[in-house]
Amino acid sequence: MQDKGKSIAILGSTGSIGTQTLEVVRSNPDLKVAALAAGSNVEKLAAQIREFKPAVAGVWTEEAARRLRAEIADLDVKVVSGMEGLLEIAVLPKVQVLVTAIVGMIGIRPTIAAIEAGKDIALANKETLVTAGHIIMPLARERGVSILPVDSEHSAIFQSLNGESADRIEKILLTASGGPFRGRTREQLAAVQVEDALKHPNWSMGRKITVDSSTLVNKGLEVMEAKWLFGVDLDRIQVVVHPQSVIHSAVQFADGAIIAQMGTPDMKLPIQYALFYPDRRPMAGKRVDFFELGQLTFEKPDPDTFEGLKLAYQAARQGGSMPTVFNAANERAVALFLDKKISYLRITELIGEAMSRHRVIECPTVEQILETEQMTYEYISGKVSGI
Ligand code: NDP
Ligand code: MG
Repeated sequence: MQDKGKSIAILGSTGSIGTQTLEVVRSNPDLKVAALAAGSNVEKLAAQIREFKPAVAGVWTEEAARRLRAEIADLDVKVVSGMEGLLEIAVLPKVQVLVTAIVGMIGIRPTIAAIEAGKDIALANKETLVTAGHIIMPLARERGVSILPVDSEHSAIFQSLNGESADRIEKILLTASGGPFRGRTREQLAAVQVEDALKHPNWSMGRKITVDSSTLVNKGLEVMEAKWLFGVDLDRIQVVVHPQSVIHSAVQFADGAIIAQMGTPDMKLPIQYALFYPDRRPMAGKRVDFFELGQLTFEKPDPDTFEGLKLAYQAARQGGSMPTVFNAANERAVALFLDKKISYLRITELIGEAMSRHRVIECPTVEQILETEQMTYEYISGKVSGI
């Protein structure tokens, strides 16, 4: 793999993963940024464009594109918009690695387009694999491109597997911090407010994924993500609550050996590892000090209180279009919760209701996935406006 002057594009550059990817670029000047895309944060994107000088920049609406063009009128940058813009960025001839740091299923089509164009994918956008893993993974194999995990747990598994044969995996040990409400009862969860759910004990992340971490929906999505990335059956993926978030995940092999990756909770490490794999570049920052830590602890998850995890396993077992319903219902319910329109426990209730009325489509096409997403959104909006 050529490291000199590697060229990347970032979808979702203004978000939590996107800005940390640009921090990695700052410390590794041989990375070149060919394109950046965001939703509507024109000011932040314009500042990034001035610093990283991409040739192409994308925003979601044409109105945002007009504002961005005005903002950077003195620069020679092509501004694109909408899905067409994301697709154009995904297949830019110069780009070698596409960083998918966008939230939600909007990432599916650009990811597929990039794979078809032979780009490696540094994948943060887990919703893409959860809903379309059956399309993306075989396509990536066929085109000989790498799907390099950015999600910290999956990066840890990927690092633990380094040099080992995937068919020697006995079990994946997927760690979870347990979120801010670990140990609480359902009665206690009923009173949770938006501000409480946005306080993650160890990681600083975007709003949606922070709420998903508190409900364990994020861990459920990660179980499905691991299934697709590493080709392991669900019953060989074990969620282990590990409140210190030092072991980022581990693999147990056929001889009983467990190999784990540990570190401080800093997303820049998995991002950098994905961008330079198989090289492990130096990185400054805090180190884990075992003496300071004293001990590492482990617990079983509580799926009866945190139903998100139970529903995720159910969706994964049913397969087909069900993970799409799980994901879309959660996405809409979390947005309603963040808008203070529904209570905390209603998030997982709505997911369960949307799943129970869905008839599974086996091996859905991208169109069927997006239709299922839309129908689920409408179902959730209908349920909530009817209250
Ligand atoms: P954020 O909400 O912080 O950022 C989302 C990014 O996507 C922003 O740049 C946003 O732009 C952009 N965006 C939103 N809508 C569109 C659109 N229609 N077109 C183009 N860009 C759009 O999310 P995170 O960075 O937290 O998460 C990104 C992904 O990474 C998610 O799938 C998440 O699950 C995953 N992930 C995140 C981790 C983390 O530590 N944050 C850890 C592991 C995985 P704008 O600012 O303009 O709205
Ligand atoms: Mg994670």
